[in-house]
Amino acid sequence: MPSDISPDTGPGTGSDTDPGTGPDAAAPARREQAVRAAVEQGVVGPGLPLAGLLDVTGIRASAAALRAAFDEVTPPGTPVLHAFAVKATPLVPVLRLLYEHGGIGAEVASPGELALARAAGVRPAHTVLDSPAKTSAELSEALALGIAVNADNPQELARIDALVEAGPSTSPIGLRVNPQIGGGSIGALSTATATSKFGVALRDPGARAWVVRAYLDRPWMTRLHTHSGSQGLPLELMTRGVAAAYELAEEINAAAGRRQIDTVDIGGGLPVNFASDAGTPTYADYARLLKQHVPGLLDGRYGLVTEFGRSLLAKHGTVLARVEYAKTSGDRPIAITHAGVQIATRTVYAPESWPLRIAAYDAKGLPKAGPPVAQDVAGPACFAGDLLAENRLLPLLDPGDYAAVLDTGAYYMAAHYAYNSLARAGIHGFTAGPGGVRFSVVRPPQTLAEIVTESGGAHADALL
Ligand SMILES: *Cc1c(COP(=O)(O)O)cnc(C)c1O
Repeated sequence: MPSDISPDTGPGTGSDTDPGTGPDAAAPARREQAVRAAVEQGVVGPGLPLAGLLDVTGIRASAAALRAAFDEVTPPGTPVLHAFAVKATPLVPVLRLLYEHGGIGAEVASPGELALARAAGVRPAHTVLDSPAKTSAELSEALALGIAVNADNPQELARIDALVEAGPSTSPIGLRVNPQIGGGSIGALSTATATSKFGVALRDPGARAWVVRAYLDRPWMTRLHTHSGSQGLPLELMTRGVAAAYELAEEINAAAGRRQIDTVDIGGGLPVNFASDAGTPTYADYARLLKQHVPGLLDGRYGLVTEFGRSLLAKHGTVLARVEYAKTSGDRPIAITHAGVQIATRTVYAPESWPLRIAAYDAKGLPKAGPPVAQDVAGPACFAGDLLAENRLLPLLDPGDYAAVLDTGAYYMAAHYAYNSLARAGIHGFTAGPGGVRFSVVRPPQTLAEIVTESGGAHADALL
């Protein structure tokens, strides 16, 4: 058993004792309170027409639910490291909240994400590096720090061989495999198709034998990694991917005649319900399905690593955008808001795959009353497709109202797209209690000076 991810040396686990495995029934009420308070306290307004709000209570509940779900299906003392996929919400205060109060480390896939995890205080023993294009320098740094590394392909493994030969490292090393179980409803997010770019494709001719040999040749390789899920993939299919990794681990250990692979990294990918406030499927649903179909993986012989991203943060984020103008075009009412492609890139470019709920609030931040009217909710960018919703039934939005874009805590509010040099929105955490709503700045809005600097402002003469 790897001791570095045992509960004793694990990250903080705070005081969240309520496993909160079911949908968080109080979340919509907290959101209403927060929207109103954001308007009253000037977090949004005419001069600050766009902000992201993060529900700290909800994030803590999700982290607790994740831990509880896997505690329930593994014997006490089983080493389990939950590593948050930083790309979902790359914000240092979020990483620190998850680490200090949620007991959740970090899965990083770029030098930038690693820097964020380190800035949040996530220790190397609770960090996992997974990107498909690691440079030699990145690998060398990770091994020097003792960060877990999952190699993506034989060429990367050869680089790791050279580093391991050059000097000892405490980094647990694994190999990513693609069980080729098939894709889900969103092609761009399906990691386990026959031709996915990730990992060693296990069903390709000769691949499985090569993988087994690769482990036998490298007694220091102790982990096996797969990430078969993501939005649009049914839980049953994700479970099949994990089962394939488990069977391979068993085969390798049998061939080695010892428990060489001591930890299986099952990736993330729990899908999120974007259609209502119900937090389904739950971590408990997934953990029970794993227990049912891959019991050997959870019987305590293996340590586990998970890498959930979207499911930890999505439902806890709300983007609040002021309606600047309201017009009609070809009889269609259109609300022109400040949230568009810069903050909801996937929804704008692939609306069929990524529909988002929108709630209408009035200028005081109260839920907007009135009969539902089919209208477009548009963003500020200069192209016709910059729409958050088309023909959506909502109380008619007027100038000064707010459109709240729900479930945007992951892959939305913090994943800015710099189209039209629109500023990165400010992001605020909130806690709602009897004494009112308290906001804290997670990330200030980007300034115009920063936009100029990041756009070559210091090199104005470079092309003269
Ligand atoms: C993106 C990613 C995750 C997280 O996926 P979610 O769908 O956000 O849970 C985990 N592991 C790897 C390797 C990833 O690329």
